[in-house]
Amino acid sequence: MQLTVEDTIQWLKQFNDRLSEQKDYLSQLDRAIGDGDHGINMARGFQQVAEGLDGDFDEVSDVLKKTATTVMSKVGGASGPLYGTAFLKMSMECKGKDVDAAVLADMVEAALGGIKQRGKSEEGEKTMIDVWAPVLGTLQEEDFDAERLKQTAEEAMQKTEDMTATKGRASYFKEKSQGHLDPGAVSSYYLFAELADVIGK
Ligand code: ADP
Ligand code: MG
Ligand code: MG
Repeated sequence: MQLTVEDTIQWLKQFNDRLSEQKDYLSQLDRAIGDGDHGINMARGFQQVAEGLDGDFDEVSDVLKKTATTVMSKVGGASGPLYGTAFLKMSMECKGKDVDAAVLADMVEAALGGIKQRGKSEEGEKTMIDVWAPVLGTLQEEDFDAERLKQTAEEAMQKTEDMTATKGRASYFKEKSQGHLDPGAVSSYYLFAELADVIGK
């Protein structure tokens, strides 16, 4: 597996398309256990990301760095700094490197560490972390493939439904957060589903 500059741009463009298609759904999920803006926050920010991807980039790290900067300034809410940190850590981790499977796993590991630190959160708190952590586990397997990556992300996203939120706005709902998918876990599922699509080609 190799993730080229073109693949990375394709990944982010597909993620943007997915977010714009699912904007209302993501906000609807956030209305149940938050303030109803996750779809708007993500779609608006990644529209700006996609528009900034037409220039020349020397390496994958540069694409991710530009993405991080845009996400930090254009995606609102808690998810802006969290996704921004994730992209920044991925960019730093692959600086000067070709992105193969091992580097990709290291990138996601760095991103997950950044999200945890920034959010002061851990696995099992019904957040995007509950998708990123199992995805990291799959990427660290010797022989993962695109289908398995997508499946891991999808199952992890589904599992947030039964969890009780202890971080972010959803934590105000306490036990009432049960029975609802976490919106950030769903957007993170889209991110990895589109990555799987690109690396599966
Ligand atoms: P806000 O809650 O500020 O309106 P969004 O609605 O855009 O921001 O994003 C909410 C998502 O952010 C949640 O569904 C969750 O996945 C994620 N999130 C919120 N707080 C944290 C945290 N402390 N750690 C990790 N993820 C978090
Ligand atoms: Mg919100
Ligand atoms: Mg908000």
